[in-house]
Amino acid sequence: MEAAEKGDIWEFVSCNLCNSDSSKKIMEVNGFNIVKCKKCGLIYVNPRLKENKLHQIYNEGYFNNQAFNGSELPFYGYEGYIEEKEDIRATFSRRLKRINKLCRKGRLLDIGCAFGFFLELARDDGWDAKGIEISEHAYKYAKNVLKLPVFNKTLEKAEFKQNSFDAVTIFDVIEHLPDPKSMLKEIRKILKPNGLLAITTPNIGSIAARLLGKNWEEVKRVREHIYFFSEDTLKKMLESLNFELLKTESAGRFFSVSMLVKRGKLYNKNIFTAIGKVSNALGLNNKRIYVNPYYKMTMYARKM
Ligand SMILES: [Zn+2]
Repeated sequence: MEAAEKGDIWEFVSCNLCNSDSSKKIMEVNGFNIVKCKKCGLIYVNPRLKENKLHQIYNEGYFNNQAFNGSELPFYGYEGYIEEKEDIRATFSRRLKRINKLCRKGRLLDIGCAFGFFLELARDDGWDAKGIEISEHAYKYAKNVLKLPVFNKTLEKAEFKQNSFDAVTIFDVIEHLPDPKSMLKEIRKILKPNGLLAITTPNIGSIAARLLGKNWEEVKRVREHIYFFSEDTLKKMLESLNFELLKTESAGRFFSVSMLVKRGKLYNKNIFTAIGKVSNALGLNNKRIYVNPYYKMTMYARKM
């Protein structure tokens, strides 16, 4: 695969949670080693591609990756992010309701806001919502099509004022970051005291992740995912930075039946081909259902 090509720039990193260099390899996926820290249990890719190389995938193709149609392309990103808008909005809407229960409406920052679907919901719900997104393609859509206040910058470069946000959301992003701990530190700075942080990320401690092993979709995304948190390691990282954990819940998402069948085929082609025929015959393809395989988690924490 592309990552194994000569000339790629690799780096070895220490554990992002406890700084230890002592780890053991637990898996190899598409030429990438996934290791577990012997001291704190954090699971991460090591060695890994350097940041500039890592970020090359976040272009238009990231949101329209043909790998979902069975091509041999590296598996990452989305099959068709904009086409999935209603499914994604339904998923986010559920999450926004939870946030509204935990935090008074005010200023919100969505980190890695992609096309701005969550921001749009938050804005329409009365939040003063801003977003940052490093993919220029997605950023332009959020800015020009949805007319949202978004910045094509990293958090560090955006230079937001300290103690200025009531809530920060970071959905399906932290597992991609070269230095999650620094990002959480930055988030802590810009949050107001008692401000709310909501993080969604795959949970490698989940039963599904353990059963599926190398076949777990989130692990197959090893070209983009470089950290695999469990409830325990994410909690430890948050507490080390003086966040108070409020609650953890499993995070499902809405899928149309046709999309679900397609994704299922990545795991079991025969069974999901059969299910596809049934849903075709019954005319169920456009029906939207909430699916929760209990392998992603959303953690809510408060700045102390
Ligand atoms: Zn460690």
